[in-house]
Amino acid sequence: MDIFAVGDISMSILHTIERFIARTFSGGSFYCCLCDKNVRRFLPYRGGRSNESAFIKEMKIVGSDVDNFECPNCGAHDRERHLFLYLNAADLFTKFCGKDILHFAPERHLSARIAECSPNTYVKADLYPYTTDIVPLDLLDLPYPNCSFDFLVANHVLEHVGDDLRALSEICRVLRVGGAAILQTPFSERLNITWQDDGIDSASARLIVYGQEDHLRLYGNDIIKRFSSVGLSPLVATHVGLLPSVNASMFGVNPHEPFFLFERRE
Ligand SMILES: [Zn+2]
Repeated sequence: MDIFAVGDISMSILHTIERFIARTFSGGSFYCCLCDKNVRRFLPYRGGRSNESAFIKEMKIVGSDVDNFECPNCGAHDRERHLFLYLNAADLFTKFCGKDILHFAPERHLSARIAECSPNTYVKADLYPYTTDIVPLDLLDLPYPNCSFDFLVANHVLEHVGDDLRALSEICRVLRVGGAAILQTPFSERLNITWQDDGIDSASARLIVYGQEDHLRLYGNDIIKRFSSVGLSPLVATHVGLLPSVNASMFGVNPHEPFFLFERRE
């Protein structure tokens, strides 16, 4: 048994204990906006930032808060909590009413909240569906005519897609003029240009240089320009701009993660 396996088992036991405590006793100074419960702390992802590669630490990734990742009560991740807060603050839950929505890799709480908004159609999709209400769809080849949807949600999806520019073109194509895509994606503040090298083709190498075994690139500061290049217009907002009264630490979200909203204008 190697040291990583021992570490994984220790973290798994710790998480089990934390979940038990959270579900048995109320209280704590942190708050999960999805299950509406105070918790003692949010659980780290794979041991948190101290377990990241030295390279990833240096890259200053803006994305998930890996130290305050999972709600021990409901299991929601920080990026789901943050997107919920953003959608609420941008009044998008109201705007979803009567609209046609395509949601990739739908998160449990978010998708339930969106369904409550009485959209006209709400398609939950994934390349590899994990529940029976999710339809199998490939972002690279969407089986819909042009201008089929008013909103598309893809929260931490594009970094997993091989040809992201083709996926973005598909997203733009199926959106109606005036429709919007919510495209939360991690990026590095240290990189000026998005880095993708097909020579980095093993899971272990991708973990070291992209931060996760199934990430296929590391976006840089050109991310907004790259997403806009397919014909989408950025309406990007910041945590401090859209959520000025939300204490990021208490809510377990990364205040540096922008709200990546893009509109199709023509
Ligand atoms: Zn929760």
